[in-house]
Amino acid sequence: MTTVFIISAPSGSGKSTLVGHVRKTVPRLDFSISYTTRKPRGDEQNGKEYYFVSRPEFEGMIEQGAFLEYAAVFGKDYYGTAKRFLAAAEQQGHDLLLDIDVQGAEKIKLKLPDAVSIFILPPDRMELEKRLRHRSLDAEDVIQRRLFTAHGEIEKYEKYDYILVNDRLEDSVAALQAILIAERLKRSGIPSTAEDREVLAIAERYSLCNVRERVQPILASFAAPAVRGGC
Ligand code: ADP
Ligand code: 5GP
Repeated sequence: MTTVFIISAPSGSGKSTLVGHVRKTVPRLDFSISYTTRKPRGDEQNGKEYYFVSRPEFEGMIEQGAFLEYAAVFGKDYYGTAKRFLAAAEQQGHDLLLDIDVQGAEKIKLKLPDAVSIFILPPDRMELEKRLRHRSLDAEDVIQRRLFTAHGEIEKYEKYDYILVNDRLEDSVAALQAILIAERLKRSGIPSTAEDREVLAIAERYSLCNVRERVQPILASFAAPAVRGGC
């Protein structure tokens, strides 16, 4: 049985970095490559990070019913999850990882209620801004739009099953791996070994009920106006 894992995060939180790690280390995990009308960024390649298509091509796919879900992200470009990735994962007996935004996650949860959703958070607003700038791939107006959108996205964190604050990268990679493996263990129904119980315990630390207090100061850092130096 295929488990669909949904990963969402405000842009710049480190989601692609984390997904890149688990794609290499977790077996039997397929990645859904989304279609988008946005232009490639940096050294992104067609068919690797995304399928980059024109607006008419994307609209043609909508008409053909090719998408499991699609959305206009940042009110500008279309992004969509093609149905064919789920069909291929099911055929292979693999799980499927979707890197999609909050609106997309809501649509998938309605269609596939057993999907597991994971929300990645930055440690605070200043760190998110730093990461967006450090990545140096977006124009200033794009960075500002992403920071503005982040606040609204973070407020939806309660809709997710797991919340992961991406502070130290090694810890976050280990946590994400534990969540994926723990969900497989839960679904397999096989009695767990001591090692399995350890993985389940690590994953549980990131479940929604256990992170509420950790999330409050992060939310507050986005609600407050950004403090800038100088006069
Ligand atoms: P997203 O996919 O969420 O938009 P990226 O994975 O592109 O974000 O990460 C944004 C920037 O932050 C990149 O330059 C990346 O190397 C960096 N980054 C990711 N995780 C961390 C972390 N834990 N600590 C510091 N920098 C990070
Ligand atoms: P970026 O332009 O930074 O690659 O992605 C912008 C946002 O679009 C991210 O939040 C990413 O998760 C989201 N996204 C990527 N693919 C899809 C998709 O197929 N559907 C939806 N709804 N969002 C997507």
